Amino acid sequence: MRLILLGAPGAGKGTQAKNITSKYDIAHISTGDILRDEVKNNTELGIKANQYMKEGKLVPDELVIEMIRRILVKDGSGTGFLMDGFPRTLVQAKKFDEMLANLGQTIDKVINISVEPARLIKRLTSRRVCSSCNNICSIEGNEDSTMQCPLCGGQLYKRKDDNEEVIEQRLKVYEQQTKPLIDYYSKKGLLFEVDGTDTEAEVKERIFSIL
Ligand code: ADP
Ligand code: ZN
Repeated sequence: MRLILLGAPGAGKGTQAKNITSKYDIAHISTGDILRDEVKNNTELGIKANQYMKEGKLVPDELVIEMIRRILVKDGSGTGFLMDGFPRTLVQAKKFDEMLANLGQTIDKVINISVEPARLIKRLTSRRVCSSCNNICSIEGNEDSTMQCPLCGGQLYKRKDDNEEVIEQRLKVYEQQTKPLIDYYSKKGLLFEVDGTDTEAEVKERIFSIL
């Protein structure tokens, strides 16, 4: 199964991606996670990407496309994948179609998780990540406490781009550059819409019923 998960920052892509890939045993390919690793390891790509990410801008298409190309070549005929955070521009989407066609592959479904902007801002400002197990959680309602990871007790940290100014920029970039992909995949008859407003469990069930 080959899937794409679309949605604004904070829509819940990362969380639902984990639910989907563990149920269907397919690879979870998160370009955001890969890029953050590259930054952490100070690689050539990481050094180039860092400035864009810090500012909430997109990393240039050619860098991200090359990154995906290498992954596709490497695990060629696996059990499938779920793309989380890619494609993010029309250029990336068209190039991705081309790369898959060359491998004799097609996308099965594209799932768009939608959440209203005010809710997205709230989620992103209260989002924390566990430094030991990478669990994504919310400190909403617990702002004053020193909350630990509900799964493993690890220390939580706030992503550098989850501050108000950068969030605003990321949402703007989403509206301008990524939202057109909804129409792109809809015209291909691949798009499935999911309301991402409710609890994680409810959204998960909605997605599973589509797959
Ligand atoms: P979010 O969806 O919450 O903004 P991600 O973890 O998906 O977060 O991405 C974080 C940052 O990584 C983005 O703001 C962007 O700078 C970069 N990035 C991730 N995926 C892509 C992509 N496909 N194209 C360009 N930049 C990307
Ligand atoms: Zn944890």
